[in-house]
Amino acid sequence: MDPKVSEVIDDLKSCLEYLRAMGIEALPFPSPSKSTLKAVRSEMGDCRRCKLHRTRRTLVFGEGNEKAILMLVGEGPGYEEDVQGRPFVGKAGQLLTKILQSVRLEREEVYIANIVKCRPPQNRNPESEEISACRPFLLKQVQVIQPKIICALGTFAAQSLLQTSEKISVLRGRVFDLHGVRVIPTYHPAFLLRNPERKREVWEDMKRIAKWLREFSASAYSAGDGS
Ligand code: SF4
Repeated sequence: MDPKVSEVIDDLKSCLEYLRAMGIEALPFPSPSKSTLKAVRSEMGDCRRCKLHRTRRTLVFGEGNEKAILMLVGEGPGYEEDVQGRPFVGKAGQLLTKILQSVRLEREEVYIANIVKCRPPQNRNPESEEISACRPFLLKQVQVIQPKIICALGTFAAQSLLQTSEKISVLRGRVFDLHGVRVIPTYHPAFLLRNPERKREVWEDMKRIAKWLREFSASAYSAGDGS
């Protein structure tokens, strides 16, 4: 054996003996690499798992902070989103940005996605098979991001995430638990464009979310501070 290799092995042995003497019996293995949003996107590829692929221009995956504490989940891309490949960039998206800003949140801080990633033709409602086909990818996005709060925007997002058939008018403003993530359904910004008198309720929900975010940040700070 090469004397240098033998020297390294001897060093390693003495190091392990030293660790054993210190009471350390096993070395930790690095945990299996955590998935990433890039990996989820690449798993989707040129997705054809439901018929929405036939009419889409772009698969709108989602965007924002991969480590966001707050995730916003909408229904599906509209015309502008399909053209630009980004979620919530049309009129409803502009309203969502304003709603976030009204509670001092910027889009870059949160993660925004939809339950179906391809535009339903003529903005029709997504069908249950389409939602079921796309749901695993939304759940994978949630697994990667590990948000503390999900705001479900509108009926389809709330029903799909919570696996319920209750209407948004019943679900709105209530708080649910999804595997440890706090889920709060509220009205979709597109609904608010048609029903501006309901904005106040969404604003109340957003103020609640902003308060939770401040509490999470404060507890993370005190944990990091050691106090
Ligand atoms: S909506 Fe989802 S499941 Fe259907 S084709 Fe698009 S990415 Fe695939």
